[in-house]
Amino acid sequence: MRLLVANTYAGSLLLAAERRKDEVIASLEDANYGGAIQLANFPRLNYYPTTDVWPEYDLTDTVVIAHPPCAAFSSQNRGSAAMRGFNAPKVRCTEKVVEYALKSKAAALAVESVPRALVGLWFMYDGYAKKYGYDVYRISLNAGSLGVAQYRPRFWAVLVRKGLVKNLKLTMEPKRREMKDIISDYDGCCLTELPWVKEHTEEQLERVRQSLNSEKEFNDYLKTARGSVVKTLPDKLKLEKCDGDVYECACARHVETRRAAMGWNFTSHSMVMLNPSDLAPTLLAGSWWFYKTRALVAEEYKQVMDFPRDYVFPGEYYLKRTREYLSRGVAPATAEWILNQIESNLTGKELSGSLKAELEPNDSTVNFWLTPKARREAVATEVILK
Ligand SMILES: [Zn+2]
Repeated sequence: MRLLVANTYAGSLLLAAERRKDEVIASLEDANYGGAIQLANFPRLNYYPTTDVWPEYDLTDTVVIAHPPCAAFSSQNRGSAAMRGFNAPKVRCTEKVVEYALKSKAAALAVESVPRALVGLWFMYDGYAKKYGYDVYRISLNAGSLGVAQYRPRFWAVLVRKGLVKNLKLTMEPKRREMKDIISDYDGCCLTELPWVKEHTEEQLERVRQSLNSEKEFNDYLKTARGSVVKTLPDKLKLEKCDGDVYECACARHVETRRAAMGWNFTSHSMVMLNPSDLAPTLLAGSWWFYKTRALVAEEYKQVMDFPRDYVFPGEYYLKRTREYLSRGVAPATAEWILNQIESNLTGKELSGSLKAELEPNDSTVNFWLTPKARREAVATEVILK
């Protein structure tokens, strides 16, 4: 397909296009975020770093895929009310790309965001669709359903120019891969340790060692603990649970929690020990993971996000920010799936898969979703909500 990519940052949408052998006519960014990474990996890319230089195209036979900032609806956003919800400035980036694509008559537009944008942007998509003559389809999708070893629920808005398709037909063959399926136990050369992660892991392990009575206890803990150290260490020490404020309470459990914690935010910036027989949790910019015997390395963070191990983050500046740039992207497998669905609907070419759904435009939502139970047990489930 002929494709135009917007707000892809580190280039996840370009990876999806490359795997599908699409013709990418250009990559557009709002504020040149990640441009150097895109060009390091796709040197022949037609790249436009800021909105004021976005070219005018006739996109009649082109599909636009975009991943504008979703901070306004992110559960990580604890900032002021003005920076959250529909009126937040970041939402204007979404409006910009929607208006750009629809005004240029794109055949279809697919936009990825966090789950809360499903409701938060409902009327915005309806408004632009009406103004420019498009149908809106809303799809909830978890990367974990598509063989990505990460629990990553996301929302896609798909807008199709009126008259091109009647209903949107979706097909999926769910695939599950766990941490142990993507991370090898090989611990030799050629792994790139991330600077901040390496130092903090050493310090974290030292704090754990000091809390436990013996080297045996310490080794047992490393073998069995799963999840955030700030939770599992007080559990291991059998400290009584308490409803007090984790940042202030004087009870033994909370004192230990604060001693074990090494970040400013206990829940999203503390070391998490991964379960080999499960998906990783959602990758966030501050995610800091330990697997079996060591900290995850750069190549493995890429794998958890479905990027190739040898994907280039050029220079020290981007190496340090590998987790940040990966986390602010789309798992390429999900973009690939969305593009496959759009192409199949536009061309009539059928796709195979054991899960099927048909969406009527504008008012229904389909979830291809991993429920919390399914996160452990296996497959994507399909739920239609009206
Ligand atoms: Zn307490």
